[in-house]
Amino acid sequence: MKALLASLLLLAPPAFAQVVAIRAGAVIDPAHGSSARDQVILIENGKISRVGGAVPIPAGAVVVDLSHEWVAPGLMDAHTHMTLTEIAGDAPFESFYLNQSSTLRGLRGLHNAMAVLQAGFTTLRDVGNSAEWAMSDVRRAIDAGWFEGPTIIDSGKIIAPFGGQSRDIPPRQGPFWQFEYIDADGPAEIRKAVRTDIYYGAGVIKLVADNNPYHYSVEEFRAAVDEAHRAGIPVAVHVYAGDALDNAIEAGVDSIEHGFDLTDAQLKRMKDKGIFLVGTDFPRAHLDIVGTSGGILPPPAVLAPKIIDRLRRAHRIGVRMAFGSDTVIDMPGRTRADLMFDYLAVWRAAGVPPMDILRAMTSDAAELLRINKVRGSIGAGLSADLVAMPANPLDDIENLRKIDLIMKNGAIVRRPAALH
Ligand SMILES: [Zn+2]
Repeated sequence: MKALLASLLLLAPPAFAQVVAIRAGAVIDPAHGSSARDQVILIENGKISRVGGAVPIPAGAVVVDLSHEWVAPGLMDAHTHMTLTEIAGDAPFESFYLNQSSTLRGLRGLHNAMAVLQAGFTTLRDVGNSAEWAMSDVRRAIDAGWFEGPTIIDSGKIIAPFGGQSRDIPPRQGPFWQFEYIDADGPAEIRKAVRTDIYYGAGVIKLVADNNPYHYSVEEFRAAVDEAHRAGIPVAVHVYAGDALDNAIEAGVDSIEHGFDLTDAQLKRMKDKGIFLVGTDFPRAHLDIVGTSGGILPPPAVLAPKIIDRLRRAHRIGVRMAFGSDTVIDMPGRTRADLMFDYLAVWRAAGVPPMDILRAMTSDAAELLRINKVRGSIGAGLSADLVAMPANPLDDIENLRKIDLIMKNGAIVRRPAALH
């Protein structure tokens, strides 16, 4: 009760609505592929009220001078696993859910989520492998105001055909993968699994479709899509190739996650049906650490060039894309956000222009996450989630690594030294 009261107090609006006025050197609008110099952004009660070149600054407003900075919408990553760190090399994929409790996983998730907000990621879609709904509790703790973290949309447990992402576990060990997967076979079990995840707070349904020789049928995918869409939430499908991918496209899921072996014909069907690709386009250095992830992935030397080629084809064909990193490793001295920014080099290598990368990281990701009427662009009526940096990311997308001001819901969570 005390905690509930504390959270209500933290969420209570201030007695006097304080207007914040940002003087921006330039504002980037990825949704329209444009940018405008010398803009003023007015923010009231956490929301953007006006943006433009001739917007007067009201008397008494708090002015934030970003006149030498480039301002963009807050960044989004549509495929994270904040509670997960894989053991390097070819260790069995299952090892982390035998060795770590839901509590430890939740604390790791909170640590990582707070770190990535400090780098400019104001929204995350966390797609499972979070023990017993640990990431849902991270979300609740952040939403209650106990910790400063990004907006989180989480999937709860991953729904998969029997066995989750395990293979060849002896019967004597039991179905321990149910720690973070729901076994669901046939439309009726899938409907039950989707409802279970929604009950526990899922904002997206995540299916793994082709980890084992058996995979979901069109009918099974349709059951998931029907249940999820009726509750107003999207369906994300982990799938690499082949029949399972065809079935997911046919059933009208919202996003294909990974899709490393997507053919041009499949990409065209995705484009026609408005299905997003969340490519999780791993850089080679990360693949070298992950290895084959216990036999789930092809060797890094095979997969790395394949990913660049698939991303290039997807962009050329015009499939809608949301940035998703799938970062599941740690590197000494680097935050998880540093590792997420490593994926930008892959997008660049695939020839995707900076504006298109930014769109995948902001407004298009927001559309996939079904939050585009709330956040994802710098426009009147939207939540004030934005980032600022001294160098233009449209000249070099790597300039996103130099973000020095971050605002979430109108509150500055990090500011440049000059503004302290
Ligand atoms: Zn993943």
